[in-house]
Amino acid sequence: MKKQTGKGLSFVKRMYLPRGLGLGLGFLSVAAALDPLQPATWVWALLLFHAFGGAHVQFQLARLSSYPYWAERRNLMFDSIMGGFWAGAVGLNPLPAFAVLGMMSMNNISSGGPRFFWRGCLAQLVGVLIAVAIFSPTLVTTSTPLQLYASLPLLLIYPLSVGLACYELAIKLSEHKNRLGILSRTDSLTGLFNHGAWKDLLQIEYGTCQALNRSTTIALIDIDHFKAINDTHGHIVGDNVLKQLGSELIKNLRDTDLAGRYGGDEFCVILPNTSLSQAAEILERLRQTVNHQRDPAIPSLTMSLSIGIAAYKPHFNGAGMWLNEADKALYAAKSTGRNKINSAPVESTVFACTLGAEIG
Ligand code: GH3
Ligand code: MG
Repeated sequence: MKKQTGKGLSFVKRMYLPRGLGLGLGFLSVAAALDPLQPATWVWALLLFHAFGGAHVQFQLARLSSYPYWAERRNLMFDSIMGGFWAGAVGLNPLPAFAVLGMMSMNNISSGGPRFFWRGCLAQLVGVLIAVAIFSPTLVTTSTPLQLYASLPLLLIYPLSVGLACYELAIKLSEHKNRLGILSRTDSLTGLFNHGAWKDLLQIEYGTCQALNRSTTIALIDIDHFKAINDTHGHIVGDNVLKQLGSELIKNLRDTDLAGRYGGDEFCVILPNTSLSQAAEILERLRQTVNHQRDPAIPSLTMSLSIGIAAYKPHFNGAGMWLNEADKALYAAKSTGRNKINSAPVESTVFACTLGAEIG
């Protein structure tokens, strides 16, 4: 059977040190309560082995298991049985018994939630019953000062170590959450914003423009005859062309501009605080740069862009209408020869402002 790695093994490793510490500190607590009861030598031997060897044996068993995660859960149940056993062996002496059972319950609820906690309680009860069956102890109702002091390390140090482990886990979780958040907004091929993230940004920019009445321009950029690039040079080259355009957008735009990949060979940009003519200048530079680039390995490969731009207008009834204006401008650029920038009309009709040389 294939060994499960990842979640299972990291769980096992995470439990190793706290268990070793908890069992070691638990030894002091149980030993102080056990000593007055004068147990048999084998009981001392078992306690010593459990306290100082148990964590290592359990770690190796879980590590070598086919399913480390489930082996570790079994380890936790074994801990609970043993905790119950020692609590029973000391006649349920209140301090050591409840210190040991309390710490194990904390482990169980933090590792497996409420259901696992209740299962742990049951396992502890089984442990108590086994001890009662073996030792028939008399109930101890008070703890001595020595037993109190012997239980303090377990009660103070162990929760601190578990708290620290929880804190480190929470930090790791928040880092993963941030990374996932970024991934969910990123186009994996180009590293730009993806479709959904960019549209969210457009919605926000639309709201800002409405509130502040600022001039912002958006652009839709489409690679001309991209299908032919794929067909002629293959999809790997096609992918590289998309990546190259992505990095040219980052290089040629300002830090405040928000570039995304709308889908396929279409890209989108928000240029905040930028008039239509300023945006046309910026994008014209981009268009020319891209158009003049040559790959020495594939000299026949050229890339030209059709770009539709639209400035925010107060009469828009939503971000969708704004995007639609840019889309219409792009369509006009395509249908009037490609390799050009086209501005959405200031009023209602689309007019072409071809700033660059046209290539047929
Ligand atoms: P036009 O000049 O009118 O824009 O024509 P076009 O060929 O660029 O446009 P069309 O929409 O016909 O083709 C776009 C192509 O982009 C089709 C699709 O297979 C390809 N494509 C979409 N996504 C990817 C991608 O991630 N990688 C690659 N290599 N190709 C893609
Ligand atoms: Mg295209």
